[in-house]
Amino acid sequence: MSKFNWDDIPPLFKGKEKKLLKRPSFWDTLVQTDQDYIMWRSESVYRGYFIQMTDNGLLGWTLTFDPKQSTKNRKATMCDLCKFVHGGGSPGTHFFSVHNRDRTRSVSFLACADLKCIDRCGETSVNSMRETLSREQKIARLHASVCDKLDQLRAFSTQA
Ligand SMILES: [Zn+2]
Repeated sequence: MSKFNWDDIPPLFKGKEKKLLKRPSFWDTLVQTDQDYIMWRSESVYRGYFIQMTDNGLLGWTLTFDPKQSTKNRKATMCDLCKFVHGGGSPGTHFFSVHNRDRTRSVSFLACADLKCIDRCGETSVNSMRETLSREQKIARLHASVCDKLDQLRAFSTQA
């Protein structure tokens, strides 16, 4: 049994964001994690999601992005979370933003457009940089970057 159940997710969102939220087709695979968070990119709307399990229950954030912006990328871009380098021109990364409740502040970061960072930890192509890190080390680094982002978001959300 996973600690993440779909029924618990929609109540974390309100209004328009709740309407846009859909159970991803890969939900069952997504929740097979030892970590206290999950993240995914919606298959149908321009949204990403971060869900974190904390001592005080589940927290959820909507990640928005401008799909047009990424196609303007001519240079290679590196994901802030998994450090994978995507070639220029392709929509390899998106600049994801999370807004606070009254939309007066936001946190932004560059990440793999599909948010499937975990899949890239096992890649050994040139795009993964000439790193000597093992897959396990890359996964550990990814989790550290995501947890860092989640800490930032939690601090920021309570300031709203
Ligand atoms: Zn990534």
